[in-house]
Amino acid sequence: MTYKCVIIGGGPAGYTAGIYASRAGINPVIYEGMQPGGQLTITSEVENFPGYPNEESGPVIMDNFKKQALRLGTDIRSGEITEVNFSKYPFRMVVDYEHEIFSETVIIATGAKARWLGLDSEEQYRGFGVSTCATCDGAFFKGKTVAVIGGGDTALEEAYYLSKIAAKVYLIHRRDNFRATKVLQDRIFKTSNIELVMDTITIEIIGVKNGFSRKVTGLRIQNTKTELLTEIALDGIFVAIGVTPVTDLFVGQLELDEQKYIKTKGERPLTSISGVFAAGDVQDPFYRQACTAAASGCKAAIEAERFLAALS
Ligand code: NAP
Repeated sequence: MTYKCVIIGGGPAGYTAGIYASRAGINPVIYEGMQPGGQLTITSEVENFPGYPNEESGPVIMDNFKKQALRLGTDIRSGEITEVNFSKYPFRMVVDYEHEIFSETVIIATGAKARWLGLDSEEQYRGFGVSTCATCDGAFFKGKTVAVIGGGDTALEEAYYLSKIAAKVYLIHRRDNFRATKVLQDRIFKTSNIELVMDTITIEIIGVKNGFSRKVTGLRIQNTKTELLTEIALDGIFVAIGVTPVTDLFVGQLELDEQKYIKTKGERPLTSISGVFAAGDVQDPFYRQACTAAASGCKAAIEAERFLAALS
């Protein structure tokens, strides 16, 4: 089966590309992949996405994106693209390791995923008290003590969200100032059950193991200025130290930069292969907003439409 336009990824960029490509009549097919709705689905309160005058939850916003794309005729499928070959035309892809499809244009909107600290102990307690998603796992820590690690928008949003569930939240950051937006910082400073632990790195996650069951009990941390090592007792740890682009599938197929973001040409979503476009966080190490992702999905769909028009 050869399609005109396959969109890989169902986040703000992918769904917006679907909306525009549907209206352009190029019959887009979206493969939503492992995390339909993208990173916004793990964001509790969104107050900076245009068109929502009141705070709205990420999943509701993403559901609206999807409904709009469906209404306009986008074919949205739950499969994952597990292999691509852009060296021949039309482009070849494999869905769920099983069946192959072909497309005349491809829009890559696979986004980015949460980064981990890389500690052995983090690996051991992942899913047993260590998480990257407060919206998903915060409810397990009602009335308990948790830590959030990081100093960006995500960390401060997660800390604030958790402060309404947990009894106490430590916000642990490796420097003495936050890169998060001022409005989030002000909110954190005013929240009485959030304790800031600055200039501090995580050395080890401490816990107990009993057969298959595991439980986080604390965190060993170090002040980077005094080098003092301390331990804090807690029940849960939320790692919020940024994201990495989801591009493993495209290594050797497209030009990537040193951080593995897909390289695009200036303001345009053109990749190193003509007819393959990249939109959203997968090609954006700078802005990484739902709003900018949606805009680049729009651009990619317009490029795909023009590419196809030039062929005919
Ligand atoms: P980010 O802005 O890259 O911040 C990552 C934070 O983690 C930084 O404070 C960084 O410290 C720290 N960090 C990185 N590696 C670390 C390590 N190995 N150990 C300890 N700390 C580490 O990532 P983000 O907060 O996930 O945000 C990603 C993007 O999404 C940003 O563009 C952000 O604006 C956007 N976003 C927006 C909203 C919103 O507008 N509502 C919400 C969430 C995210 P340093 O500061 O020292 O580098």
